[in-house]
Amino acid sequence: MTPQGPQAPLEFGGPLGAAALMVLLPATMFHLLLAARSGPARLLGPPPSLPALAELWSPRALLLLLAWLGLQAALYLLPARKMAKGLELKDKSRLLYPINGFQALVVTALLVSVGVSAGLPLGALTDMLLPLAFAATLTAFIFSLLLYMKALVAPASVLAPGGNTGNLIYDIFLGRELNPRICSFDFKYFCELRPGLMAWVLINLALLLREAELRGSPSLAMWLVNGFQLLYEAVLTTMDITHDGFGFMLAFGDLAWVPFTYSLQAQFLLYHPQSLELPMALLICLINAVGYYIFRRANSQKNTFRKNPSDPSVAGLETIPTATGRKLLVSGWWGMVRHPNYLGDLIMSLAWSLPCGVSHLLPYFYILYFTALLVHREARDEQQCLRKYGRAWHEYCQRVPYRIVPYIY
Ligand code: NDP
Repeated sequence: MTPQGPQAPLEFGGPLGAAALMVLLPATMFHLLLAARSGPARLLGPPPSLPALAELWSPRALLLLLAWLGLQAALYLLPARKMAKGLELKDKSRLLYPINGFQALVVTALLVSVGVSAGLPLGALTDMLLPLAFAATLTAFIFSLLLYMKALVAPASVLAPGGNTGNLIYDIFLGRELNPRICSFDFKYFCELRPGLMAWVLINLALLLREAELRGSPSLAMWLVNGFQLLYEAVLTTMDITHDGFGFMLAFGDLAWVPFTYSLQAQFLLYHPQSLELPMALLICLINAVGYYIFRRANSQKNTFRKNPSDPSVAGLETIPTATGRKLLVSGWWGMVRHPNYLGDLIMSLAWSLPCGVSHLLPYFYILYFTALLVHREARDEQQCLRKYGRAWHEYCQRVPYRIVPYIY
């Protein structure tokens, strides 16, 4: 196989790093799932006992997962009231994306509510988390292999900048094609914003219902974790959509990692109930609100600026011109640190863990992992911006010296 198109530098430690991550990521997810239900709930150290294959493999779980993916795909194909244009691609074209995610969420919520009121035992989903996670992992492996095969016959213009090195493992991991599609069905956009994120909310809800079955009512801590995470939303113009190809990294991340590890706090609470006093709950709500405010305001300031720099809400902000014709904000949120949206995200992630108390490290896995993810993501973004903007980016870094946390990092 010969590499095609301009090649970006290797990331994630190259082919060896990619191979290691393809083993380590699923292993970590299963470790977390097993540890959350064990008595000591230890984050570090071996899981209590390795599950037998029969505990992992269940045709029923696979069928359930496929039915879920089928339902979400059908909702994706429903006529959308609005289509959004993606960013400009190598060949100057722009892809169209249906904006009907909210519609899909409402229909899913309606179906789930009707099902639950008709006696659907949603709480029983919590007993199937292990086989469901196994089925999702298997699906992600097969899916990324199929995507790789599809990309082998794709023209060079649709390949991702980073995933066409010619190394099989690395390209499967990172994804060879930028926006793999069959007709107008965009696999990356579909997976990024729908089945995994909605499954995360559904698993959280199942854990809440199971807690109510076991203890009479859901705990305040469980309500907070469910409420905060429901509020959290992802945005269309994230880096995954614009830069990364679609391979194992995103397929596994979207279909398995997000629903099964992001629900870790709720899983922990089901097996390790925590009493939370009202003043502490209010303080945690305040922390979440501060994080959410920074996250939303920073993202929307940049998105508004990119869409329409003369919008009154951003027109007065100070900017640096770049050789590309685009400008960089140097005041407002983006003048405080170079990634204020990550700061808001991290503050929220702390609020998601605090309801679980401080007796265990396990529920804080998310903030530890997320800090590492955002620090790495920030470094990748800086490299891309440096390539894009050159001297203007250096000037921005001089004027705004901190990356994520003011005066610290
Ligand atoms: P960002 O929204 O941070 O966008 C980075 C881009 O913004 C840069 O490449 C550049 O692109 C532009 N930019 C950077 N600085 C400036 C500036 N000063 N003025 C104007 N434009 C600037 O990227 P992400 O996709 O990483 O994050 C999106 C959101 O998603 C964040 O809130 C993040 O926290 C969240 N997220 C959540 C994850 C999760 O698992 N929960 C995972 C990853 C992200 P250009 O100049 O080309 O416009």
